[in-house]
Amino acid sequence: MDSSSTNAPTERVLPRSHQLQQRAEQFFPGGVNSPVRAFGAVGGHPPFVERAQGAHVWDADGNQYVDYVGSWGPMILGHAAPQVVEAVQQAARRSASFGASTASEAELAALVQRAFPSMERMRFVSSGTEATMSALRLARAFTGRKFVIKFEGCYHGHADALLVKAGSGVATFGIPGSAGVLEETAQFTLALPFNDVAAVEAAFARHQGEIACVIVEPVVGNAGCIAPAEGYLQALRTLTAQAGAVLIFDEVMTGFRVALGGAQERYGIQPDLTCLGKILGGGLPCAAFGGRREIVEMLAPLGPVYQAGTLSGNPLAMAAGIATVGHLIEQRAQIYAQLEQTAAAIADGVAQAAAQAGVALTTNRVGSMFTWFLQPGPVVDYASAACSDTRAFAALHRAMLEQGVWLPPSQFEAAFVSTAHTALDVAATVAAARAAFAGMRAAG
Ligand SMILES: *Cc1c(COP(=O)(O)O)cnc(C)c1O
Repeated sequence: MDSSSTNAPTERVLPRSHQLQQRAEQFFPGGVNSPVRAFGAVGGHPPFVERAQGAHVWDADGNQYVDYVGSWGPMILGHAAPQVVEAVQQAARRSASFGASTASEAELAALVQRAFPSMERMRFVSSGTEATMSALRLARAFTGRKFVIKFEGCYHGHADALLVKAGSGVATFGIPGSAGVLEETAQFTLALPFNDVAAVEAAFARHQGEIACVIVEPVVGNAGCIAPAEGYLQALRTLTAQAGAVLIFDEVMTGFRVALGGAQERYGIQPDLTCLGKILGGGLPCAAFGGRREIVEMLAPLGPVYQAGTLSGNPLAMAAGIATVGHLIEQRAQIYAQLEQTAAAIADGVAQAAAQAGVALTTNRVGSMFTWFLQPGPVVDYASAACSDTRAFAALHRAMLEQGVWLPPSQFEAAFVSTAHTALDVAATVAAARAAFAGMRAAG
């Protein structure tokens, strides 16, 4: 593709995608069903996707891309992985949904528990938002307390109580929280800086006996990728235990990603409750929350906490989850070593290209999730992430897209590597970045 115009807002017209976008705008606000899919933050026109296979996506105009969005995390085995396609097809033939229990639910739960032994009991839901919202309700019921601590730049889905300084799309579009969320709801959510133990200590001191839980992305993905500082997660564990508060790890993104057993395995910390999603459903709508038995068994029908879902534990989602998680467990050693190696090769190659071009770039990477922050760094929390040059990121994004590399369309998102990314994809990505940086430098 033409890379000579990479420093100007893209002039490349994708006629078919453009047509589809206009049609979509007649039905959906902004033409999208999730705001992070829009290209407002990076400019240019979003390609419409026709199909994908492995690490590659094809748009409606016939262009091919190396994909680093991976459906925002789920596609760790690459797109249309044969065993996942086969499992879903077989399940669909037995009917898509019953509203009664099937064996596949316990089958997937057993796999989940092998990866996440802290999840003694769990419940399946259909989205990460439902998982975090329900975990919060459980924590409040269990403790009889009102306040919730979250961290600036962490996104936990779009439930009212959690849409406070929520990173991701909220940060991308410069919205402080969300209109429509009552002050009366938001006032019980304390948003603190990530990686700052003193701030958590101060909050517990100020609100003694009032804090129900601390919810955290143990590796932040939704302010861009930010690793926990040494000892930080342990400090959260200690402080919550001392205060009788519930520690919730929102591993919707990190679960099965930064290790088979998520961040809790990678950093050796056991939370009270865990939220999973994304990879869990292998691309189908599936999420879960679970943890200590005495907390989770407060759920109806055993206990007084109500939570339900018509399509929860859906057979197609269970089939895709079993195929995906089952494969990750079977090939665990090989898969996570390969992901680490591929992601490191991309990060190293692109960092080197940036250094050679004199472009200020900070690479934050944990396993196969990473973000390129357009700034000297370090990026350790939301405030430092927000110092990035988002215009330079937009230029990088456009230039990469024109050369057939599809990054998440925001500075405040993580990119994902799958097992389907090959050395050829790595080389193409590094070459695209080299050209993009040259163009950005020429543009000043
Ligand atoms: C994606 C995400 C969610 C929300 O999940 P949905 O399925 O989009 O509702 C919650 N928490 C984290 C950490 C996420 O990355």
